Amino acid sequence: MRIRDTPAPGPGFVAAQTCATMHPMRSTPLRPAAADTPAAPRLVAFDLDGTLAPSKSPMPEPMATALRALLDVVPVCIISGGQIGQFREQVLARLNASDDELGRLHLMPTCGTRYYMHNPDDGDWTLVYANDLTPAQVEQACTVVEAEARRLGLWEEHTWGPALEDRGSQITFSALGQEAPLDAKQAWDPTGEKKGRLRDAVAALLPDLEVRSGGSTSVDITRKGIDKAYGMNRLAEVTGIPLKQMLFVGDRLDPEGNDYPVKALGVPCQAVDTWEDTATFVADLAARLTAGERS
Ligand SMILES: [Mg+2]
Repeated sequence: MRIRDTPAPGPGFVAAQTCATMHPMRSTPLRPAAADTPAAPRLVAFDLDGTLAPSKSPMPEPMATALRALLDVVPVCIISGGQIGQFREQVLARLNASDDELGRLHLMPTCGTRYYMHNPDDGDWTLVYANDLTPAQVEQACTVVEAEARRLGLWEEHTWGPALEDRGSQITFSALGQEAPLDAKQAWDPTGEKKGRLRDAVAALLPDLEVRSGGSTSVDITRKGIDKAYGMNRLAEVTGIPLKQMLFVGDRLDPEGNDYPVKALGVPCQAVDTWEDTATFVADLAARLTAGERS
């Protein structure tokens, strides 16, 4: 499966995650759906990491099976802070969906600043829109991050891949490079103090942009106001389906979580703790919707 506008990631590719936070799996029982959850949502949207798959890992087969069953009866959107490459590696490579099913799948990487739909004519994924940073914003962000990292003594001369990456809608600074091994990343800034200092220094110099702590060694710069609520609003625009008639499924709907903006927006939500929770919920929902279609 090709993605038309995005080069295939290299062997050392590490997918980015803009607005997800890694956290340990919990094994508490699945919480019931909120009272305002629509009985038959017209679209079901999912977070990716921790919801459809373990963090940065391929979607397991039971989840793929449940998701295909759901795609047979209702449109599905996946919305994540990660790049399209992450969607491809974690989801599309494992989904084994038919063209009909893929035709009902909406992909919103980088919190919906990019939107992809399946093209039935060539089986390809087409970029419908991209709200990227302007070239001037990219240049300014890169210049400021490098200067501040050097000033604070956080610019490493030896890295695994480039420290600065232009991801279109996002500039990412990774102190040790994009392809640094996990143990090196974890050892670099175990308390988050370095990252926090750099974030604060850069944010003060880029008041028109959003500057956030990203992964263990990274700082992400995007347009202001980009979170999953932004993506859900765009989804309502492009599909014409009102937010109240959608259902969002995520593992971080708590007030500190990166899925919370969707809940705050008023979208009916289903909280899950693990992909296993999601697979169970989705299989039940697909069966319920299928039975409803037949009745
Ligand atoms: Mg998540």
